[in-house]
Amino acid sequence: METCCATKGGTSKVAEGHTIHALAARLNTAFAGQPVRVSSPQHTFAAEAGRLNGHEMRQASAHGKNLLVAFADAPTLHVHLGMFGSFSVRAHKRAIRDGWLRTEPPASGSERLRLLTLTHLGDLRRPMQCRLLDDDGVAALLDRLGPDPLAPEQDPDAAVRVLHRSRREIGLLLVDQSVVAGIGNVYRAELLFRAGLSPWLPGSAVDLNLLRTLWSDATYLMSIGTAAGWIITDTRQVEQAAPYLDRGERVPRWPKVYAVYGRAGQPCRRCGTPIDSAAQGRQRIFWCPRCQPFVDD
Ligand SMILES: [Zn+2]
Repeated sequence: METCCATKGGTSKVAEGHTIHALAARLNTAFAGQPVRVSSPQHTFAAEAGRLNGHEMRQASAHGKNLLVAFADAPTLHVHLGMFGSFSVRAHKRAIRDGWLRTEPPASGSERLRLLTLTHLGDLRRPMQCRLLDDDGVAALLDRLGPDPLAPEQDPDAAVRVLHRSRREIGLLLVDQSVVAGIGNVYRAELLFRAGLSPWLPGSAVDLNLLRTLWSDATYLMSIGTAAGWIITDTRQVEQAAPYLDRGERVPRWPKVYAVYGRAGQPCRRCGTPIDSAAQGRQRIFWCPRCQPFVDD
């Protein structure tokens, strides 16, 4: 199972929050509650890996696009995959002798960080950020992040009020990690289409109830994405995925169907109007000018 990102066709593939939540769950299943051998086959993180080596991994957690891995009596590992990072987690079946592996799984040398136990292997490659944080550092990081639609304890109204107070464009607000943590470029475009909202509307111009609907739709779709292992936003595909999710299975990777994302110039699936596209913030936004009219009362 691989968490991976790449750039393709001018649309960025930064890991969105659902990917990091799924990664945290895999790390917990594989390593939590056990002492972990931690190393840096690439050597660039060797000193830090040494401070974690042999400590029990307590818990991995996702905060938007940030992964935090807590160890007993050691600093916390903070990882942000960015555009090109990947963190693979898998079981291995290496032979054991004298309480440890007879031979360790081979490394390519590109692994910034490696987690290893008698049964599992985790390899982190090309992260945008990989560092150790003390408790104050963790608190400061969490302070900078907005509410995460996938955090169970989140108060939806707090997030909605922040969106509603701002004069900034709703398309910008949704991907500003200090406002909402975890939504990336694909989800913002598809969520705004589903809500019938122009990405160019100021947050303050959007009806509060519509913002609540948008927030719960984000929680709904990103939960599906976490369980499925890929972004599903098309209504029909959501329905097709339901039986797999009910059985706790991963959903087959059908060809992705987006309403607007990556579809500049193609006809809207609902009304036939060509999908529009422009830079908004550091990434491109896609929208249907007819289904998502700019109406600022
Ligand atoms: Zn349309």
